[in-house]
Amino acid sequence: MNTASKSLSRRAARRFWGWGAAGTVLDTREQATVKFMVEQLGGQFAALTPPAVEDFSLSAPRIAAPTTLAAMFSSAPLDRLNHAYGKSYADCSRMWLRQVPRPPDWVAYPDDEQAVVDILDWAVRNKVAVIPYGGGSSVCGGVEPAVGHDYAAAISLDMERLGQVLEVDSVSRAARIQAGAYGPDIEAQLRAHGLTLRHFPQSFEFSTLGGWIATRAGGHYATQHTHIDDFVESTRMVTPAGLLQTRRLPASGAGPAPDRLVLGSEGTLGVITEAWMRLQAKPKFRASASVKFADYFAAARCLRALTQSGLNPSNCRLLDPMETVFSGVGDGRQPMLVLGFESADHPLNAWMERALELVRDHAGEYDAAAVARSMATEGSQEHRKGAAGAWREAFIRMPYWRDPAVGLGVIMDTFESAITWERFEFFYQNVKSEVQSTIQRVTGQESLVSCRVTHAYPDGLAPYFTIAVLGSANGDVASALSAWREIKLSANAAVVAHGGTITHHHAVGRDHRSGYELESPLLFRQMLGAAKKVVDPSGILNPGVLFDAQGHSAAAGSVLAG
Ligand SMILES: Cc1cc2nc3c(=O)[nH]c(=O)nc-3n(C[C@H](O)[C@H](O)[C@H](O)COP(=O)(O)OP(=O)(O)OC[C@H]3O[C@@H](n4cnc5c(N)ncnc54)[C@H](O)[C@@H]3O)c2cc1C
Repeated sequence: MNTASKSLSRRAARRFWGWGAAGTVLDTREQATVKFMVEQLGGQFAALTPPAVEDFSLSAPRIAAPTTLAAMFSSAPLDRLNHAYGKSYADCSRMWLRQVPRPPDWVAYPDDEQAVVDILDWAVRNKVAVIPYGGGSSVCGGVEPAVGHDYAAAISLDMERLGQVLEVDSVSRAARIQAGAYGPDIEAQLRAHGLTLRHFPQSFEFSTLGGWIATRAGGHYATQHTHIDDFVESTRMVTPAGLLQTRRLPASGAGPAPDRLVLGSEGTLGVITEAWMRLQAKPKFRASASVKFADYFAAARCLRALTQSGLNPSNCRLLDPMETVFSGVGDGRQPMLVLGFESADHPLNAWMERALELVRDHAGEYDAAAVARSMATEGSQEHRKGAAGAWREAFIRMPYWRDPAVGLGVIMDTFESAITWERFEFFYQNVKSEVQSTIQRVTGQESLVSCRVTHAYPDGLAPYFTIAVLGSANGDVASALSAWREIKLSANAAVVAHGGTITHHHAVGRDHRSGYELESPLLFRQMLGAAKKVVDPSGILNPGVLFDAQGHSAAAGSVLAG
């Protein structure tokens, strides 16, 4: 057992208090952007000393680690801090405040699936809550060990050692992959086979296959294969009641699909240890365009025409004027549609030409020469240049900019939903204005609220809002966090009240439970509760996340409760 200060993690060190690799520094341009943003919001820029492990005094573990598994158990402060929270705005601001009252008692790093079984057995016998942990990139309180007083202790079960691609079937184009594999590890191991999973959430670098499946993550494709669900062929999950292994099949009509219960289970029904995932050949042909419109709703109508055309662009992200500023691709006056097609098999000229006809029908403007260059040669890198390339770069780097701004009292947060087309305009206007008026009321500051459409469907779309505001006039992080609670509750209420879902792809966790309870039928949640009683009769798995088998209120345990 590791009670020393050295981490038992075998991965490169990450920032426990923010996003990404521990050694990451912002380049000069990024630092200037953060300074500009903080000052634009009315704050004062200063270089802060980020939280250090020594700043925290963590309570001692409440239970001894099991002797036979002790080599996989760590109580090193860095491990406990890394597993105390996910990566939401509230998580990062609590780290800046040096507030970690409930770290996991232990962090367990199982070496293999049998160790997962043994750890769950021990946890059941000792009434210890177990929080399955992938990359810890949850933004809805999914990995926080805030389990209440019904447990002797709480441990975080980090799956990083189950990180291999175990088998590749290049005939059916699928691979058996362990749940703890991070995005880049999966792609690196598949590269030798000329195949790719192509699931690229913004958190790709620091999130895992198991986490994606458990949260039904949304990835790279803006249309058609939007969620990880579409790539899951079969799953394997260890539960306190035994092993659930589903059969590899391309499709099946045999009753309710068991994989569908594993998908989105958020660590409450079992620990996913592996899955067979559908793969693809790496794309060779690409076509891309950046399209500007005079009006956001005209742009949205164009997006609807594109999604209803059956062209299925792989990229189809619509940025409202403010979002073009956040992404560094516009000046805030016009909305922009980032459009792209990709294929491993065929040139895409016909697809792009038809898409551009639709764009012209909706008065969209684009650089025809740049579009032609993107299609001119196999393997063209044009999609990495211009506005589309700038958007992609900002997409990857943006989480890194947030950290210093949060320490300076800026609330930077996102919330996302999905809504059918006929209600979109009403939804967008009302959600935005209600959240903005809450922000104004609780902070007294002018805010920036932007929206991008991350995924689009023939019958609707997934709007993703970003807010940036100075949390209080004096830039104090505690005041900002308390203002954020009201803003988050207001956003949760607004998206559901106006007909949307509480989450399109960020999952329910603890922070979205109130909305989930409004949107999902009670009878369904009771069915889910009954399934939970079968696989986890002692209720040790991620208590309080998604739903609470013990009948605690939706707010209990969430950072929203204060
Ligand atoms: C900067 C940033 C960008 C993001 N971008 C996206 C995005 O583009 N698309 C998107 O969908 N989400 C995004 N997210 C949210 C987050 O990355 C996803 O929810 C992701 O799927 C979580 O994966 P993870 O491995 O980090 O899981 P964790 O955060 O470790 O866990 C998430 C949930 O899954 C459960 N879990 C994890 N592993 C297992 C397992 N093996 N078995 C059972 N349960 C498990 C946990 O208990 C928890 O409830 C983003 C988050 C951040 C901070």
